[in-house]
Amino acid sequence: MSDTFKALVLRQDAQQTLAAIEQLSLDQLPEGEVLVAVEHSSLNYKDGLAITGTGKIVRHFPHVPGIDLAGEVISSESALFKPGDRVVLTGWGVGERHWGGHAQRARVKAKWLNHLPTGFSSARAMAVGTAGLTAMLCMMALQTSGITPHDGPILVTGAAGGVGSIAVALLAAAGYEVHASSGRAALEPYLKELGAHHIIPREQLSRESRPLESEQWAGAIDTVGSQTLATLLSQMRYNGAVAACGLAGGMDLHTTVFPFILRGVRLLGIDSVYAPAPHRQQAWQQLAQQLPMALLDSLTRHIPLEACPEAANQIMAGQIQGRVVVDL
Ligand code: NDP
Repeated sequence: MSDTFKALVLRQDAQQTLAAIEQLSLDQLPEGEVLVAVEHSSLNYKDGLAITGTGKIVRHFPHVPGIDLAGEVISSESALFKPGDRVVLTGWGVGERHWGGHAQRARVKAKWLNHLPTGFSSARAMAVGTAGLTAMLCMMALQTSGITPHDGPILVTGAAGGVGSIAVALLAAAGYEVHASSGRAALEPYLKELGAHHIIPREQLSRESRPLESEQWAGAIDTVGSQTLATLLSQMRYNGAVAACGLAGGMDLHTTVFPFILRGVRLLGIDSVYAPAPHRQQAWQQLAQQLPMALLDSLTRHIPLEACPEAANQIMAGQIQGRVVVDL
């Protein structure tokens, strides 16, 4: 195997982030126990921030972005992995503080990796990526809270986004009645194709609400936060549960205690970045078994590493729909 490999490298020049394809050698990689031949990565909003230098999420340069990666172990100093193992990595600050997946090689800590479930290709694992893992963790949280398809409809907010799209597909496949809230009316056919039963216009939830409104949702997966989360909390059915994972509409939350103390509503916080390994392994296993792969393929676009800077600009401009997989 060649000792040099291709990488997207970010450098800083006069406060500007410059992204270019470079040929690197293995001894330039950061420390870690496991060397991975990266086959696929993905492009997320966080990668857009890093590549365009918008969010100042990268503090040390040069840097290789890519918060998700999947491929095959080349060598390992950890007993947890051996050469030839098929692995996936999301989160843990990889692509932000540690060099990430936008390179043909990555050296990472063993505890950051998970084994890919049998039959799950690295390309599809990256179509799932952080977004899909988060959607699955949200659904698992609702299920652990006892919410079943018999209890009533489940609301998904920010439904046409990465997390929302996969949440709609997963919930529908599990037999739930899914109500998808979106600001993009033109995407109704797309959301129905994923399995949404009803589409709720975004404004219906982003308006101010009374402390308690008529009971509608048995469960909810919220990627939006702010007023949307406050409104949907006031509309939860008795003993309902909300998995809150995002802040696409803002990080504030102004609500009252009424949904909690008068209706027994549960608010469940979801984090995928530092979720413990066994919990992730269970989520990947369930994704392999439950996510309809034809639907996943239909919402995925593949790009070469060279196209990442342009695609990063598009994701920052909100011009991307579904998931983007980077082929290494
Ligand atoms: P995307 O950008 O793909 O999707 C976000 C969606 O939110 C958009 O598609 C849009 O949906 C909706 N939206 C955007 N702006 C607003 C607004 N101002 N008001 C209401 N709705 C809005 O992001 P992801 O799906 O990847 O991530 C969703 C959220 O989850 C983000 O906040 C992200 O930071 C967070 N996240 C959290 C993780 C965790 O571990 N907790 C992991 C991954 C993501 P539509 O077009 O349908 O209206």
